[in-house]
Amino acid sequence: MKLRTKFVALLVPLVVAPLLFLGNIAYTQLKISATQRMFDDVGARLERVRESVDKTRRVSDASLDMIAAGAPLQDFLAGNGDAALRANLDRLRAANPDIERLLITDAAGVTLGHYDGQSMPGRITDGDRAWFLGRSRAFRATLDEQRERFVLQNALTVRDANDATQAFLVLTRRLDQLALVARNHVMAADGFFLVTNQQGDVLAGDTQLGDSELPQGAEFNTWRALVMDGSYREFPINGAGHYVKGVELPGELLLYAVLPTSQVNASTRKFAVTMFVITLLAISLTSGTLLLALHHIVVLPIRQIQSAANAIGRGELHVHHLRASNDEIGELAKSFSDMSTNLRDSNDHVQYLAYHDSLTGLPNRSMFRDQLQHAMAQARREHQRIAVLFIDLDDFKRINDTLGHQIGDEILTRFSEAVTRELREGDVISRITDDDSDHMLARLGGDEFIILLRNVADEYAPRNIARRICNLMSQPFAIGSHELYISSSIGISMFPEDAGSADDLIRNADAAMYHAKDQGKNNYQYYSESMNVAAANRLLMETRLRKAIELDQFELYYQPKVDPHSLEIVGAEALLRWNDPDFGLVPPDQFIHIAEETGLIVPIGEWVMNQACIQLADWQRRELPPITLSVNVSPIQVARQDLSFVVARSLRNSNVDARLLDIEITESTLMSGGDRAVRMLSELRGLDVSVSLDDFGTGYSSLSYLRRFPVSNLKIDRSFVAEIEHDEGCRSIVSAIIAMSNSMDMSVTAEGVETEAQLDFLCEHACDSVQGFLISRPVPIADFERLLVATDWRTRREARSGGLWSPQPGG
Ligand code: C2E
Ligand code: CA
Ligand code: CA
Repeated sequence: MKLRTKFVALLVPLVVAPLLFLGNIAYTQLKISATQRMFDDVGARLERVRESVDKTRRVSDASLDMIAAGAPLQDFLAGNGDAALRANLDRLRAANPDIERLLITDAAGVTLGHYDGQSMPGRITDGDRAWFLGRSRAFRATLDEQRERFVLQNALTVRDANDATQAFLVLTRRLDQLALVARNHVMAADGFFLVTNQQGDVLAGDTQLGDSELPQGAEFNTWRALVMDGSYREFPINGAGHYVKGVELPGELLLYAVLPTSQVNASTRKFAVTMFVITLLAISLTSGTLLLALHHIVVLPIRQIQSAANAIGRGELHVHHLRASNDEIGELAKSFSDMSTNLRDSNDHVQYLAYHDSLTGLPNRSMFRDQLQHAMAQARREHQRIAVLFIDLDDFKRINDTLGHQIGDEILTRFSEAVTRELREGDVISRITDDDSDHMLARLGGDEFIILLRNVADEYAPRNIARRICNLMSQPFAIGSHELYISSSIGISMFPEDAGSADDLIRNADAAMYHAKDQGKNNYQYYSESMNVAAANRLLMETRLRKAIELDQFELYYQPKVDPHSLEIVGAEALLRWNDPDFGLVPPDQFIHIAEETGLIVPIGEWVMNQACIQLADWQRRELPPITLSVNVSPIQVARQDLSFVVARSLRNSNVDARLLDIEITESTLMSGGDRAVRMLSELRGLDVSVSLDDFGTGYSSLSYLRRFPVSNLKIDRSFVAEIEHDEGCRSIVSAIIAMSNSMDMSVTAEGVETEAQLDFLCEHACDSVQGFLISRPVPIADFERLLVATDWRTRREARSGGLWSPQPGG
C-alpha cells in the first residue's frame, strides 16, 4: 500500500469519523436546543395571548361595573328611555369592537332589553335567575346555540342601595378578537393555533383541523395534561408529526400552538447542512493540506532517497540532488548522501588501490597494461613508436634479505622517486617526446619497474632515459646508517618492431632486462629475438636446478691453497659444480644467481656444507695432511641467521675439528649485512670456525673498518692480482693490503694467481697463501687427493716445470 493510501486510510477513522460523530452529536444537541428555544418562544407567545385574554376579561368586568354604576342604566331601569345608555354602549363598542351585545334583565332574569338590536340568546331563558347568579363575574366561553358558535360571556348582578338585586347584565364578546390575537402571536412562530374548551371542542383555530383530529374524551384529558406541562412533545396529527404546546386561558379556554415537526426541523436541518458542508470542506481542506504536506515533506524526499538508493545500487555514486531538511527524513537523506560520499571515497580508494602500487603510489601492472594498450592503439593510428623499459634492481633480493624489508621498501620508494624525477626533467623528455605526459612509470611488483615512452622519435631515443637511470646509481643512497649502491638492469622493447601486443611487448622488455643482468648487471639492453630463447633456457634451468639435489647432480671441486714459498698445500676451496646430464658440467656463475633468486641456494648451500665436512672427516680418518677447507656461502644464507646452526650441525654430524673449516663470505655481503652479519661472524667464530673475506677490494670497505669484524683471513680479489704485472696502483694496493692485514693479525690469500711474476710479487710481499690456475685449477676430489699426498713441493717449485701441475680439464 502506498504511503498516501495508508495516510488516507488512517485519516478516515482518526479524523473524518470522529468529526462526523461529533457533528452528529452537535446536530442532535442543536436540534434539541433549537426546538426548546422555539418552544420557549412559543410559550412566551401563548403567555402573551393569555395575558391579552385576561385583559379582555378584566375589561369586560370593568365595563359591566361601569355600566352598572352609571346613571344611564338606572334611567333605563327606571323606564326613562335608553338613549343615554345607548350612547354609553356605543362608546364602549367603539373601543371594544368584539363586544357583540349587552343583555339587561330584571331581578327575576326577564329580559329588559339587549343592545345589538337582536333577541336574547335562546339558552339564556327569561327568568332563569339562578343562571344569572351563577354566571356573575364568571368569564367563560359559551355555545351560542342560536348562532352555533362559541362566544365569551360574563354577567354582573346589579344591586340597589339596599343591596337588593335590581337587575342582571350579560356581556357577550365574540371569539374573533381572541383568534386574531392568537393568530398574530402564534402564526409568527410558523405554526398554527387551536382554541378548545375543557371538553375538547374546537372553538377557534387557524387551521383546518377539526375536533375529529384531536383525541376525544378521557384521552383528551391525558393529552391535554401532557400538552400543558410546559415541555414540547411530538404528536401524530393527520399522519404527520407535530409539536403541540398549550396554555390555559381565562374563560376555561385552552389555547394550543401546533407546529409541524418538519417545519421546526427545517431550520435546524438547514444549519446542519451548512455545518456538514463546512465540516466536509474543513476535512477536505485539512486532508488536502496534509496530503500536500505529506507529499512534500515525506513522499517526495523518500522518493528522492529511493531513487538515490537505486542509483547507488546501480553504482552511480554521485548523489547531489538530495534535499536536506532539518528533520528525521533530512537526517536520513544526509546519511544517504554521506553514505554515497563514503562509498564514492572507498570506491575511489578501491579504484586507486586496484590501479596503484601501495608502497610507491605508482601505477601498477594493471594500469600500465591498460595505458600501454591504449598507447599502442594510438601509435598504430598515428604511426608512432612506443618504447617499454623494464627495470629490475640488481641484487635487490640480497639487500632485502640482509637489511630487512623496511630498508628494502625505503630503497624501492627512493628509487621510484628518483626515476620519476629523472623522467620529469624536461630536457630528457623533450628529446624523446613533445609532451611531458607521454611517459609513465609503473611498478610491476617486487623490484621490477616499467616505463612507457610514447611517441618515441627513433629506436635509439630510449637509450637516453636508460642511461640516466643507470647513472642514478653512481651515487650511493644514504638510508639510515647505510650507504648503499643500488644499480639496475634495464631491458628495452619497441613497438611496433618487437611485438604486436602489450603483453608481448612487456615480456620482451623483460627478456632484454635478463640479458642485461647476464651482461653483468647495471646496464641496459635492447630486445632481440634471441633473448626469448635465453629466457626460455633460463626457465628450463630453474626447473632442472630444482631436481638437481634429489638427483644428486652436484659435485664439489677442490682448488688448492698453497704456501707461496714452499708451494705446500695449506688448504683448499670447495667449489660447486653441477653435473647436468644434458648440459654437462655447469659452472656456478651460470646457476648460483638462479639458485639465489629462487631460494634454492639454501638447500644447495646445506648440501655443500655437509659435503665439505664429510670430506674433511674422511681425510681425518685416512690421516691425510690436515688442511683447512674453505666453503663459499651466499648472502642469502648469511641473511637467514641459521647459518651458524647449519655449520654446527654439519660439523657435529661428521665429527670434524671445527678449526679445519673456513667460511668464505664476500666483502659486499658483509658490508651490506650490517649488525646481523657481524653477529653471524661472531657465532661462527664461537664455533671455532675461521672466516675469510672473499673478493676483498671490490666492496668499498676500508681496511681499518674491518677491525669491527672477527675475520681471520682476507682473500685479495682476482682483479687486483691480475693487474700486478701491469698496474703500479694495483701493486701498491696489494702490498698495502698484505701489510695492513698482517698488522691486524689477519692472514692474506691471493686469488687468481696465473703467472710466475704474480707469484714472485706475492712471495716478496709475504702473502700467506696463494690460489690460482698457476698452482691448480679446481679439480675433482680424486685429483685433489693425489695432489695432497704428493710430497716433493720444493723440487717442483724450483723446477718451475711449466705451470707446476698440469691443469685439470673441467676446472
Ligand atoms: P669465488 O669464491 O671467487 O671462487 C673463485 C673462482 O675463481 C672460482 O670460479 C675459480 O675457478 C676461479 N679461479 C681460481 N683461480 C683462478 C685463476 O687463476 N684465474 C681465473 N680466471 N679464475 C680463477 P668458480 O668455481 O667458477 O666459482 C665462481 C663463483 O661461484 C665463486 O667465486 C663463488 O662466488 C661461487 N661459488 C662457487 N662454489 C660455491 C658454493 O659452493 N656456494 C656458493 N654460495 N657460491 C659458490
Ligand atoms: Ca671463494
Ligand atoms: Ca673469490
